[in-house]
Amino acid sequence: MHDTHFHLDLYPSRQAVLEETERAGIYTIAVTNAPSVFKITQDLVRGKKYWRAALGLHPELVASHGGELQLFRSLLPETKYVGEVGLDYSIGTSEEKATQRKIFGEIVELCESNGGRIVTIHSRRAEKDVVATLENKPRSAFILHWYSGSLSSLKKAGELGVWLSVNTAMAKSTKAHALVDSVPRHKILLESDGPFINVSGHPARPINVSMVVAWLSTLWCISEPETVQQLQSNFRNLLSVVDK
Ligand code: MN
Repeated sequence: MHDTHFHLDLYPSRQAVLEETERAGIYTIAVTNAPSVFKITQDLVRGKKYWRAALGLHPELVASHGGELQLFRSLLPETKYVGEVGLDYSIGTSEEKATQRKIFGEIVELCESNGGRIVTIHSRRAEKDVVATLENKPRSAFILHWYSGSLSSLKKAGELGVWLSVNTAMAKSTKAHALVDSVPRHKILLESDGPFINVSGHPARPINVSMVVAWLSTLWCISEPETVQQLQSNFRNLLSVVDK
């Protein structure tokens, strides 16, 4: 199993989550929200079999941390994973949104010019511009994380080969059902987005992706083992983009 979007650095009990996930054998991408905290996460996951550290610059932090783009550029050779990055039009002035676009555009270009990366992307109320940014970028694998935009932009993303990662909050949302149902099974991935999602009153952890598996198996009308098999094959295909 896998979790393509988890914020390890935001947990008070990081070692417990690290060890629990290692024992469960869940490949987990530990995203970061600013280049200045990447090293912390990189140190935490060093030597772990199932953990990978991702370099990010969250759109909500562009106003305060946009100056770290230079640091992003210098750290990029150290990882094949990028996130959390993207656009968020639910916040900020029009000037800040323009800065978000400039930085996200540069990040995507950097991923491409460095041979391609696995990139997990935030697109709240900005899906149209996010998808437009991903056009003609053949080297990277882009994942729309917790997508809540229009069906038409998701369709367009699908034409570009973009992936969709699904979490437990989406499994509970009727709107999300229609979105997930519109994406071919072979382009679906799992995410927890902990700690921004709660499961049974606690911040979500990678092991909670099993609940998404159960939901997908119902949606797809196949058994849970078959669902796991499909998702494992998807994750292998995702990794093949950067394992060349
Ligand atoms: Mn997140």
